[in-house]
Amino acid sequence: MKITSIEAFPIRLPVRRDFKWAGLREDLGGFVVVRLETEGGVIGWGEATPLPDWGGAAGRRGGETQATVCAMVRDVLAPVVVGLDVSDVNAARLAMDRAAIGNSYAKLSIDIALHDAWGKVLGQPVYRLLGGKVRDSVRFAHMVGLMGHAEAMDEALGALADGCTALQIKGGVDADRDIELIRELRREAGDGVFLRLDANQGYRTARNAIDILARLREAGADGCEQPGANMSSMAAITARGGLPVMADESCWDAVDAMDVVANGAADWISIYLAKAGGFVGARKVSAIAETMNIPCDVNGSIESGIGNAANLHFVLSQPCVTLPSVIPVNAPAGSHPCAYAGNYYKDDIITEAMTVRDGHIFVTEAPGLGIEIDGAKLAQYRQDRG
Ligand SMILES: [Mg+2]
Repeated sequence: MKITSIEAFPIRLPVRRDFKWAGLREDLGGFVVVRLETEGGVIGWGEATPLPDWGGAAGRRGGETQATVCAMVRDVLAPVVVGLDVSDVNAARLAMDRAAIGNSYAKLSIDIALHDAWGKVLGQPVYRLLGGKVRDSVRFAHMVGLMGHAEAMDEALGALADGCTALQIKGGVDADRDIELIRELRREAGDGVFLRLDANQGYRTARNAIDILARLREAGADGCEQPGANMSSMAAITARGGLPVMADESCWDAVDAMDVVANGAADWISIYLAKAGGFVGARKVSAIAETMNIPCDVNGSIESGIGNAANLHFVLSQPCVTLPSVIPVNAPAGSHPCAYAGNYYKDDIITEAMTVRDGHIFVTEAPGLGIEIDGAKLAQYRQDRG
C-alpha cells in the first residue's frame, strides 16, 4: 500500500498547570501532528513534541521547534517518503537520514504515522509490529515539575492518591530543596513508591554530584537522572555507585547508547522515541540495553494522545523497559481518570481517555496505535488556521 501524502501542522493543547524543568523555558503544550495517507485512504497519525532548548548533554544536539519540524516534514522528509510502501519503515528511515542529518523529532513524526498506517493496513496493533507483547500494561511515573516544596508535595501526593506508584521529581537547580523534597516524600509515601530525581544536568560537576547523590540516597531516592552534563562526569558519578544513575540527555540514539556502555556512564537509560527519531531508531537503543542488561524507562516531552500511544506500544514490546515510564495519561476534556497522575493537559485530540488501573496504563487491541482522532478538536487546536 503506497504512501500518497504526508502533511504536518502545529497544534497547541491547554495545560492543567505550569510544568517546568531545569533548562526548559518554553511552555508545554505545543505539538506537530502528522497525517499520512495511503492509496485506498488509510490514514496514519504521527506526532512530535519539539523543544528548542532540549538539545542533548551539554547542548550537543540541535533543538527543534514546531516551525522547523513542519518545514522539514513538508520540504525535506515527506518528498523522500511519499511513494514508499507503508511497511517500508526501515527504507523510510534510510531515506530520511540521507535527506538530512539529525532532526530526530521531524523523523519521529513520520515514523509514528508510518507504523500507525502499517498496523491499520494489516489489522494489527503496533506492538505486534515491534515483536509482540512482553508485558500487558505500563507502570507509569508522574512528573512533578520544578516548583516550591509545598506545591510539589501537593502535586506528588495527589498523583499517589490517584493510584500512581512512581514519581519523577524535577530538580537540579537547588540541591538542598531536592533532598528535602525526596526526604519528605519518602516519609509520606512509604517504601513502595519509586522516587527518582531528574537533575537535567543541573548538578554539573562530578565532585558536586557525587556528594548530592549520596545525600539523595540517604533521603530515600531510588535513582538520579542525568546528574552530570557530559559523558565523563556521568561516568565518574556512576563509578561511585552511591545511587543508580540514569542517562537521558547523554543517550539519544544507538551511538550514544554504545558510548554510555563503553564509558560506564549510567546504570539505566531513558529511551525516547523522539531522541532516536522513531521506533526504528529506538529499537536499536533498546536492543543495546537489553543485550547489556541495562534497565530502561520510556520518557518523552509530555506528548499528546498520538505520541503517547506510540510510547505505550513500544513499552509493551521491549524487554529492557522495566522501570516506571514518564508517560502521560491522555484524555478528552471532562473524562480524565485522574486529578493529578499523568494529567498534564485539560483536553486531547484523541476521542477516548486512556485506560488506567492500579498505577498502570493499558492499550486497546485496535489496529495501528489503537486511537481515534477527533477532527473537530484537531481543527480547534490547530495553530495555522484562523
Ligand atoms: Mg530527563
